[in-house]
Amino acid sequence: MNAVAEAITAQSAVTARPVDASAAAARDSHDRPLRDLRLSVIDQCNFRCTYCMPREVFDEHYRFLRASERLSFDQMMKIAQAFVALGVEKIRITGGEPLLRRGLETFIERLARLTTLNGKPLDIALTTNGSLLAARARGLRDAGLSRVTVSLDALDDTVFRRMSDVDLPVARILDGIEQAQAVGLAPVKVNTVIERGVNDNQILPLVQHFKSSDIALRFIEFMDVGGAAGWSNSTVLKAHEMRAIVETVFPLVAADRVDASATSVDYRHVDGQGTVGFIASVSEPFCGQCSRARVSADGQLYTCLFATQGADLKPWLGEAVPGEHLQDAIHARWNARDDRYSELNADRRRAGTGKSWPTVRMSLVGG
Ligand code: SAM
Ligand code: SF4
Ligand code: SF4
Repeated sequence: MNAVAEAITAQSAVTARPVDASAAAARDSHDRPLRDLRLSVIDQCNFRCTYCMPREVFDEHYRFLRASERLSFDQMMKIAQAFVALGVEKIRITGGEPLLRRGLETFIERLARLTTLNGKPLDIALTTNGSLLAARARGLRDAGLSRVTVSLDALDDTVFRRMSDVDLPVARILDGIEQAQAVGLAPVKVNTVIERGVNDNQILPLVQHFKSSDIALRFIEFMDVGGAAGWSNSTVLKAHEMRAIVETVFPLVAADRVDASATSVDYRHVDGQGTVGFIASVSEPFCGQCSRARVSADGQLYTCLFATQGADLKPWLGEAVPGEHLQDAIHARWNARDDRYSELNADRRRAGTGKSWPTVRMSLVGG
């Protein structure tokens, strides 16, 4: 057992097992509830987005997890059950590229049988690059997937190829988005990471394209997460700058905020169906409402996207270990959680004390 696991075990000894629904909802040291789990099912990807898996690093010598090092779906079910018992209502399946993991639909079928503490169906979402979505959308919906988010950084093929470093046309991703909408995995969200000077000229074409659909388009500030090549403050186009660009052509009005823990601030077109959201992870961090835990494809629990070290859940995943022990370990880790990296980093930047430390790879832990 490693040091982190031992620390968790020690903490677990003093953590009372929840006895009813309200006691079961885990809270961290800033009183933030545990509501969302992002579960990475694979660390591999068929894209090489320059801001996430630059080809110079993720080349043929790069050591991805072996199949035997990845969690099995049985282990992931045990993890999902423990998180749901602690108050999680949404599970987002991510990666790497989650659609590369074989048998995903069967796993989703199993997840869809779980209910939340208040008896509602679990909200199961998937984040994908969309390249394999068109043929899989119906099967994913039939398995019980509730929603899908597709990442798409450009409408222009040249810009898209440059950012994703893959030889595919944008039409392939748009087809995936259309199929997902058509089978009812709606509303589809489209996430676009904007890098200043790289794809900021795609903001208006993307807004124009999705304006007459029910699609929720969200622009994300480029973050300095592990893997991000060439990140510097000057490469971040801030959310308010992106909105100003949109509003030069498309007037927006603020949309009602339905979910206090939502990462994006959403706007409606004055005339049009789609919405446009902005995720200001860098310029206006939202750590105060952060209710997300992440589990990597090899079973490490991260309580912040920018964590340098995870807590190994594998000691609790053996068949002989009761699920309650895993639940206690996660509960203890969440109780001790103090993360608010983006807020602290924003303070450091304001104070001119510069940039940060290395963080976990985004492709391992999921976005
Ligand atoms: N492969 C899937 C995809 O691209 O949707 C799922 C995993 S990917 C790591 C999840 C999200 O993280 C994507 O929307 C991606 O754009 C975002 N992401 C990755 N690196 C990022 C960075 N440096 N800054 C902001 N977002 C990033
Ligand atoms: Fe792959 Fe998604 Fe990372 Fe792009 S952002 S390299 S699609 S994991
Ligand atoms: Fe949550 Fe960490 Fe991001 Fe803050 S920096 S919003 S705590 S994941």
